[in-house]
Amino acid sequence: MSESANGIVIIYTGHGKGKTTAAFGMAFRALGRNMRVGIVQFIKGKWPTGERKFAETLDGIDMHVMGKGFTWESNDISQDKRAAQAAWEQSQRMILGGEHPIVILDEITYAINYGFIEESDVIRCLQDRPESVTVVLTGRNAGEKLQDVADLVSSMEVVKHPYAKGKPALIGVDY
Ligand code: ATP
Ligand code: MG
Repeated sequence: MSESANGIVIIYTGHGKGKTTAAFGMAFRALGRNMRVGIVQFIKGKWPTGERKFAETLDGIDMHVMGKGFTWESNDISQDKRAAQAAWEQSQRMILGGEHPIVILDEITYAINYGFIEESDVIRCLQDRPESVTVVLTGRNAGEKLQDVADLVSSMEVVKHPYAKGKPALIGVDY
């Protein structure tokens, strides 16, 4: 398949582990094809993660983490909302700009489900995107309307997770 093949909309949802790692696995694959990858993480960006530390060393990835530069000491909803909206503005620029054949919106479902950004705005942007652009959205509880516009939806199912036995998250495995 050529690099200019039509893009698709992919959703990784569900409660099991593997949504973010699946999206980043695709980024790895795209980089090997010399395709630029845009990533926006809709998480509070205060704590470093392995994926972010590595992405910052790669020329082919443009990564933006919501809330970098914000303070998160308070549980200030209005500040969360502004940070999510700024991350969404960035996402739209990357999706509509057409310079990134792959754009990953990691954990975006939380920003939608908390009402920080409008699902209808996300859907409109997906529909208006250049046809060469593939967009990957991750996060639990992806909405029905969002799933309707996707071409591919995979739901990670929990069969077992060590968290249930009180095991803490592992460096290099979980973050
Ligand atoms: P990963 O980033 O490992 O691919 P994920 O994106 O599927 O996981 P998230 O819902 O984003 O999962 O959860 C983020 C963190 O919670 C990760 O550290 C992940 O290992 C952990 N996690 C994932 N699934 C579960 C689960 N079923 N129970 C408890 N913790 C989980
Ligand atoms: Mg995740």
